[in-house]
Amino acid sequence: MNGRRPSRRQAEQAVATLLRWIGEDPARPGLGATPALVAEAWLEHGQGYRTTPEAALGQILEGAGPADGMVLLRDIRFESHCEHHLAPFVGLAHIAYLPDRRVAGIGGIARLVDCFAKRLQIQERLTDQIAQSLQDLLQPRGVAVLIEATHHCLTTRGAHKPGTRFVTTRLLGAFRDDPDLRRDFSTLSARPGGS
Ligand SMILES: [Zn+2]
Repeated sequence: MNGRRPSRRQAEQAVATLLRWIGEDPARPGLGATPALVAEAWLEHGQGYRTTPEAALGQILEGAGPADGMVLLRDIRFESHCEHHLAPFVGLAHIAYLPDRRVAGIGGIARLVDCFAKRLQIQERLTDQIAQSLQDLLQPRGVAVLIEATHHCLTTRGAHKPGTRFVTTRLLGAFRDDPDLRRDFSTLSARPGGS
């Protein structure tokens, strides 16, 4: 991280400036607590900056993987913020890997998603970072990550296209090389009926 971290008071003053920028009066009743609440909320949106993929994934079980099978976690809900507008993008991650000795806990994989989602992101990089960190930490035979999300910067402002979903994938190792595995992943991560 570059530069000195501002104080909480400076962060709150920045929120008050933004309120004035849109034509509000930060001193009016109703907005008194807003700068403090927004500063606190952004600490939560940015909590990924204060953890590491290793810490998020937690305990790794050695020699515990199925000899010849896929581990798939579907529908891992996440909330992130786009780095261009600081607007939320919200969606689901589907993650598969082919264990080779090392297996992670289910909660660990969900925390790994948050480790990267709770930062300013673009969806492509979020997808890459999840896949690459699983590859590095578990050294499986392959990793597949598919993320589908709705970007509020697209649905509530700018182009105003509600309902648009953005889908990104990252395939590593055997998932990239083997069309059958790719198809299995697509089938298993597809949701009947959608939502
Ligand atoms: Zn955006």
